Amino acid sequence: MRISIFGLGYVGAVCAGCLSARGHDVIGVDISANKIDLINNGKSPIVEPGLEELLQQGLRQGRLRGTTDVAAAVLESDVSFICVGTPSKKNGDLELNYIEGVCREIGMAMRDKNERHTVVVRSTVLPGTAKNVVLPILEDCSGKKAGVDFGLAVNPEFLRESTAIKDYDFPPMTVIGELDKASGDLLESIYSELDAPIIRKDIEVAEMIKYTCNVWHAAKVTFANEIGNIAKAVGVDGREVMDVVCQDHKLNLSKYYMKPGFAFGGSCLPKDVRALNYRANSLDVEAPLIGSLMRSNAAQVQKAFDIIASHESRKVALLGLSFKAGTDDLRESPQVELAEMLIGKGFDLSIYDRNVEYARVHGANKDYIESKIPHVSSLLNSDLDDVVAKADIIVLGNSDERFAKLAEQAPSGKRVIDLVGFMPHASNGVAEGICW
Ligand code: NAD
Repeated sequence: MRISIFGLGYVGAVCAGCLSARGHDVIGVDISANKIDLINNGKSPIVEPGLEELLQQGLRQGRLRGTTDVAAAVLESDVSFICVGTPSKKNGDLELNYIEGVCREIGMAMRDKNERHTVVVRSTVLPGTAKNVVLPILEDCSGKKAGVDFGLAVNPEFLRESTAIKDYDFPPMTVIGELDKASGDLLESIYSELDAPIIRKDIEVAEMIKYTCNVWHAAKVTFANEIGNIAKAVGVDGREVMDVVCQDHKLNLSKYYMKPGFAFGGSCLPKDVRALNYRANSLDVEAPLIGSLMRSNAAQVQKAFDIIASHESRKVALLGLSFKAGTDDLRESPQVELAEMLIGKGFDLSIYDRNVEYARVHGANKDYIESKIPHVSSLLNSDLDDVVAKADIIVLGNSDERFAKLAEQAPSGKRVIDLVGFMPHASNGVAEGICW
């Protein structure tokens, strides 16, 4: 493949070295003549282990050259990778000057090109940037139609400086956000030899994935730091603790607890979060991340309420009262909290939960259900069909498998609100999700 790379900083220079090493013909473009000179003389413009050797190899084999000539680079390549910087503005927003500038240049160059060209955004950009900023500039400047006359894709970079070449060769995944299938196919052919899953999504999804990964990394770092701070205050080495926690690939480092949806609850998580936070406070240890978890959780319950309240009807069925399916435990169930909010605001609420129903009659929780939350438990109805029939809004509150079909096929005239994610991604399910 003939590839032009715009911006030869930490991302662009590494891409140039790695792609040329894998047999592609690479033209590197930068506004800095100094960087171009360095590259053309076999010197890496950045400090990155192994990069200089790759650049020299590319030059030797005639597969790499640097230039400041944008038009030539576009004309002599099939695809352009945009790797320019996207720094922060003072207010925290992204500075898109470099993106806009490079798009204008590439767009103008595409005007004079007869063959189809593909533009790939590798820079980190907020969701919507490719479609709302990159695409119109390219179309305006080229006089061509995106997705038809030229291809457009987003392909976020996951490399980490200092191990960038290894990260290029062994990425966790390759994410391709494509406007048109041809662009996705082209990128897939470039990356097919890497031993990593190739994930093809809509452009905005790919943009969001990159932010999600980075913010998650930040949250993990902050979390580990807060644990370390508290551990130290109680005389424990937090590194020792985290070493053990990270050996658990079943629950701690897996997809579990990592699914956007409703608030967490039950008898452990809220209690333990509060306890640790209390201990941190009493030891004068700053733990703002952990300190904000319960607030974040409460906001998710409020969000569910707001979604329900945004509909006109006040006739609501809450399916699932315990914090998860398969248990009758109602302690700190956010579903109970939601029910109380609805009751407090005068909604006509009925509730179905077969486990709680069972417990009310047979279980050890009978007492709790009858004496602690009589205002809620009095609304329980053991007939699912009856509960659904009487309401206009059906809220899927936990993941009891009996509720799944309602997310795909709402009874006629009913609105279904899915708090737990029954609806498969990108399905035509009828339910309104809490955060999807
Ligand atoms: P950088 O500042 O090191 O490099 C950007 C380069 O773009 C500079 O050399 C600059 O001269 C050049 N440039 C600016 N305008 C240009 C134009 N019109 N034409 C050609 N070149 C132009 O930036 P970076 O660290 O490589 O990051 C690039 C993007 O990749 C950012 O969006 C960043 O968030 C993202 N990213 C960075 C890393 C990382 O570890 N650095 C990892 C993943 C993603």
